[in-house]
Amino acid sequence: MSVDLHLHTTKSDGSLTPEQVVEAAAKRRINIIAIADHDTTAGIAVAQAVASTHGIEVIPAVEFSSKFNSRDIHILGYFIFHEDPELLTYLKTLKEARAERAQEMVQCLRNIGFNLTFEEVEKAAKGASIGRPHIARVLLRKGYIETFSDAFNKYLRRGGPCFIEKFTYSPKKIIRLIHNVGGAAVFAHPGLSGLDTYIPKLVDMGLDGFEAYHVDHTQEMTKRYIEYAKQYGLIVTGGSDDHGPVSKHGVRMGTVFVPNEVVGSLRRRVQEIRRSF
Ligand code: AMP
Ligand code: ZN
Ligand code: FE
Ligand code: FE
Repeated sequence: MSVDLHLHTTKSDGSLTPEQVVEAAAKRRINIIAIADHDTTAGIAVAQAVASTHGIEVIPAVEFSSKFNSRDIHILGYFIFHEDPELLTYLKTLKEARAERAQEMVQCLRNIGFNLTFEEVEKAAKGASIGRPHIARVLLRKGYIETFSDAFNKYLRRGGPCFIEKFTYSPKKIIRLIHNVGGAAVFAHPGLSGLDTYIPKLVDMGLDGFEAYHVDHTQEMTKRYIEYAKQYGLIVTGGSDDHGPVSKHGVRMGTVFVPNEVVGSLRRRVQEIRRSF
């Protein structure tokens, strides 16, 4: 048995469809996966529908972006009721805000002299929640940049000439929402946020765990978040944050060690949360 609890699909900014993600997991002999797209749960039902034929379990998940002290913080929701109306209302607002933000970034790129349109970006997103990677793909296809990363390095990175801040909910709101829809709230790749001093506040808000195992974590980081989890009586999870072959890092699925036990502790935590609501 092997697990990967952090995968993206074409429903957000991944390059594989939910079906292809399940097939890729089957090829790598991963039996429990979590589809954790940015701000959307649209890939879960499709993935679950094909998963059973491969003997794979798909845990419904979502990855929210948030901010604290102008630093990015990502919060994963696991075992959420992914079709809950309250959740869908939040996700709809986020999707609309992302589309407006993409329009502003496109306008900025047009002002610099690039001939691209929001419609092209929308088409590249194929109905997904629009992110900077979709704009990057259009710039790449039109030959305005040489590599995918150029889009970020030259224009769209935070602080870059066409970066626009994304609308986000506060960590408190996100954690409350995840609990309301039956899920567990996990601090995604905490080692990349530089917000360790904020951990006690997040724990007060009801945080359930830390994504201690993550491809971009050093061994020291993994160890540190396992320690934090022990200290606060929280759980740990892990995943590769794979965005498919056409992405910043290429294929990462299955490249991070995640102990199988994390799934059991996640299930128990979710049961506790649901009992207390
Ligand atoms: P957004 O949600 O629109 O802010 O876009 C964030 C996504 O862009 C991340 O999940 C990554 O997939 C991708 N990304 C961020 N920075 C870079 C970068 N420097 N190079 C390539 N992709 C990036
Ligand atoms: Zn992403
Ligand atoms: Fe993330
Ligand atoms: Fe992610």
